[in-house]
Amino acid sequence: MQGVGFRPFIYRLANKYALAGWVLNADDGVHIHIEGLQGELEAFVCDLRNDPPLAARITHIDVQPKELQGLDGFVIRGSIARRQPTVRVSPDLPVCEACLTELFDPSDPRRSYPYINCTNCGPRYSIIQGLPYDRSLTTMQAWALCTHCAKEYSDPANRRFHAQPVACSVCGPDYYLEYCGQKFLGTAAIRQAAAHLKQGRILAIKGLGGYHLACDALNRHAVGTLRERKYRKEKPFALMVKNAAVAGKLVALSDESIALLTGTARPIVLAPGKIELPEVALNSAELGLMLPYTPLHHLLFSEEAPEILVMTSANRSNEPIAYLDGEALKQLDSIADGLLIGERPIARRVDDSVVRDGAFGPVILRRSRGYAPEAVATLPTRRPVLALGADLKSAITLVVEGQAFVSQHIGDLEHEPAFRAFQETIQDLMAMYQVQWDDLLVVHDRHPHYRSTNYAVSLPAERTVSVQHHRAHIASVLAEKGEWHQAVIGVSLDGTGYGDDGTIWGSEIFAGSVAGGFDRITHLRHARLPGGDAAAHHPVQAAAGFLNQVQNLPDLSTAPFHFPVRYQKALQLVEKGMRSFPTTSMGRLFDTAAALLGFTRAVTFEGQAAIWLETLARTSPPVEPYPFPFHNQELDFIPLLEALLRDRLMARKTAEIARAFQTGVARGLFEALRLISHDLQIETVVLSGGVFQNDLLLRDLKSLFDRTPLQVWTNHAVPPNDGGISLGQAALAVFRPDACNDGSQLTSR
Ligand code: ZN
Ligand code: ZN
Ligand code: FE
Repeated sequence: MQGVGFRPFIYRLANKYALAGWVLNADDGVHIHIEGLQGELEAFVCDLRNDPPLAARITHIDVQPKELQGLDGFVIRGSIARRQPTVRVSPDLPVCEACLTELFDPSDPRRSYPYINCTNCGPRYSIIQGLPYDRSLTTMQAWALCTHCAKEYSDPANRRFHAQPVACSVCGPDYYLEYCGQKFLGTAAIRQAAAHLKQGRILAIKGLGGYHLACDALNRHAVGTLRERKYRKEKPFALMVKNAAVAGKLVALSDESIALLTGTARPIVLAPGKIELPEVALNSAELGLMLPYTPLHHLLFSEEAPEILVMTSANRSNEPIAYLDGEALKQLDSIADGLLIGERPIARRVDDSVVRDGAFGPVILRRSRGYAPEAVATLPTRRPVLALGADLKSAITLVVEGQAFVSQHIGDLEHEPAFRAFQETIQDLMAMYQVQWDDLLVVHDRHPHYRSTNYAVSLPAERTVSVQHHRAHIASVLAEKGEWHQAVIGVSLDGTGYGDDGTIWGSEIFAGSVAGGFDRITHLRHARLPGGDAAAHHPVQAAAGFLNQVQNLPDLSTAPFHFPVRYQKALQLVEKGMRSFPTTSMGRLFDTAAALLGFTRAVTFEGQAAIWLETLARTSPPVEPYPFPFHNQELDFIPLLEALLRDRLMARKTAEIARAFQTGVARGLFEALRLISHDLQIETVVLSGGVFQNDLLLRDLKSLFDRTPLQVWTNHAVPPNDGGISLGQAALAVFRPDACNDGSQLTSR
């Protein structure tokens, strides 16, 4: 990877053991030639293996004896130029320990300087304007180095040797605070900002990949005001806490959670809350928190900003995070009381990532800062591929020389600003890797009305193909693992996706492989979705198309259900067969259960009803699961809903009902998979799709699978939700371009 200080590290290591030779970057990795005494050569390799720079990823070390050349001293040689820049751009890195020490050392020239960085830390992807990674192609180009910085930059023995964003308070950009027409600079700005936060004010703060809105998380009034001004009714806010000790007081942290929290990606980590912060996360068993990652964050906390800050992406609901100063000023003026603005421009927006230590290992729920634009897979192709993902939780994949680079999280394309961001991201990655349209294979979802589909077919690409949504989910897991020929049973459970037959799929079981393709083996019993995808906003509306198949249905407009009139209207649509579409969506089945247990209003963010149901179920001890039988080659939800209705009418605790429903889904799915596995003699199960963000469901499944020889594979490098779709699309398009529908046909439909 470029920009992680690998060659200077090698230089220092060679000097440590008095070795002669050279180091250079080449197409196939870093080449090192060293000459010296046997013991020292071995010590060098040992250190290299065991103690590489934090952000470097060494995939393997290949050691070969060479002729002695009698070299004198050790040098860093220039890179061998490439045909196409496939070097891996490093994601942004959190400030390192050495820089932090300097930041708080009163005698250091960079004391209290909010843009301190070195080759081991600091911005990368968020400042890069072009490749190769060099200061003149970053947003730091406007600032010339002072003598002190220049000396460090050109000294191979220094930690800042070729640190492209290096700067200090003498020569570099600075922060200033704008508050009620007043302007404060440098340290005063940060001190004032901390004081305002303490007093309950809301500040917009420029970070690495965009602006945040921050306030004291324990100040109910401040958090409430932020919700009002941001038009964000209920979606939980992320927190930034002073340090890991404060984090430990707020949430229960597993070892894996701590590793995620303190790792170089510094994502928002979801973990079970120990205390309740209803203003921050209403009806949620989890809190999402992150540690400070820029020097500025550390300075704010050291100036006694509140220990627990709400730190949420600065935007209006559903819009992409603001990252340009002019745009931020306009958008955030009515939300924030003041703005803490850094002068270093942000080259592209990169949101905070969101992860969880899940039942089957780490799950990335939103992949952005700290991960993007890392390559997550190597595909056996030399042809460039651009995969456009789905319309919800959009992210794109660009394959260059077989390296699959997955973009940062973009957003939901139905919103105009997100759609613009989507187009910008495509142009950005295409330009960065100098990919030409003429040889490009473009891949998109099969949904004929997705904006990404229409955009794909309008591109001047050499060829355009489409991939079915749920097959792409399954392929995303296999692409991460590089398992192209492994036969698997693929289970894709999610909210919505366009099926082969034009209906709305969402509980699909496939058999096959990436190279051989996936056959749909079975699915959920069909329900109907009145109003189509719009039903996703109203659990009772979705419920109508499931419940109308249940015999002897009680009156749902009265206690304990209290369904609003929307339900009756939806039911009429279903019964008349008007504007209602066949579906196998698991997301809508979860919505139905949530509605029956009391979630009868509209959702204010995607997946809210399912999260509400999971949260409720978590408060119950394990219970006997409801039946969810697999017969007539379908998973039948009728017995599941009948049992739920019966218990609800008997006034059983809603938490227990929620648990019995969820465990029922897990058990029913597991039993079906066992039968299918036996029939097909396939012992590997792949789980992907938005429903698998539900950790309780995963835990139930894990405890069932643990007792069998079946192995389960899930996503770890891209999200199981639609944020991972583009990777699966790219993989299937590379292996089966002819099996994928030709996208150009879709426009005439
Ligand atoms: Zn550093
Ligand atoms: Zn300087
Ligand atoms: Fe999906």
